This record gives sequence, structure tokens and C-alpha cells, in this order.
Amino acid sequence: MRMDKVFVDLHIHSALSPCADKEMTPNNIINMAMLKKLDMIAITDHNAIDNVLPAITAAKNKPLIIVPGIEITTQEEAHLLAYFPTYEALDLFYHEISTFLPERINRPDIFGQQLIIDADDQLIGEDPRLLMNAVQLSFDRLVSRIIHYQGAPVPAHVLRDSFSAYSQLGYPGRVTH
Ligand SMILES: [Zn+2]
Repeated sequence: MRMDKVFVDLHIHSALSPCADKEMTPNNIINMAMLKKLDMIAITDHNAIDNVLPAITAAKNKPLIIVPGIEITTQEEAHLLAYFPTYEALDLFYHEISTFLPERINRPDIFGQQLIIDADDQLIGEDPRLLMNAVQLSFDRLVSRIIHYQGAPVPAHVLRDSFSAYSQLGYPGRVTH
């Protein structure tokens, strides 16, 4: 194993994210990561975690670390990544915060499909909820809950002009142009 550098991609969307291609199955993601010689990846679906454990299972016996993760849309519509030391920690965190996702039904024809896929890339079903929605918890509240479960919060694509901590929260220090 290379000890000098670690190659990672910690922001990957599987077929469970409405924005992602349906070919983004656990095994396709893992095989592509292996081809790219990555050491570590995270599947960070929007407000959902169902494809994380299948990916961890499918990556067993492979020289690839899957960091349990998620990308949450906060109440302010900022995207917040979260990484956890174990799947159990992610699952406990998700169990708590998913109840704050509004009960609206997805329209796959408009927003895209949300496919749940097992470790053998078999289709299990679709998440019926509108995962594009914002979890009704504030950015700060979510950060503290992530830390409570020993997770690491990371603001997603911070310099983007939409759905970022800067664009939605206007944190001091933002460069205006
Ligand atoms: Zn994302």
C-alpha cells in the first residue's frame, strides 16, 4: 500500500440520490473507485443512507475503505456532509434526523428516481420520500447532532453560489464579486 499519499473521493452520489445516474450501484461505484486506484470513498446521498451498508458489504475483502456518510440539506438549504466512524453511528444519527424530513412524496418523472440497491446490485425498491427536501433542522443544530454521534461535519461545495454554507448562511469572510 502507498504510504505517502491517500487518494479519496468523499462525495459520491449513488442511484438513491435523485440527481445521480441509475448506474451508480454499490458495485459500480466500488469497481470505478478501484480502477481509479482510490484508497477511500464515501457514498453521501441526499438525506438518505440505504445504499451505504450495501456498499460497505460489497467492498469487503477489497483494499478500499468506505466511510459511512450522508449529505444533508439543512433547513437553510445548505448542503452539509457528515462522516461517521461506524455505520452504526451513521444509522443512529439518521434515525434521529430523518424524522425531520417533510412527509412529501417524490415525483420520479420530475426529480429523478431514488433507487435502493443491495450488495449484489439487485434493486430492492425506491425511496418514496422527496429526498430533495430540506431536513427541518438548522445547520448549527445538525452540526451539533453529527458531533454528538462522533461524526465529522463538512460543509459541501462551500464556494458554490447555491446550496452552500456561504450562499445560504452568509458566513463572515465571504468574498463578494
Ligand atoms: Zn452532493
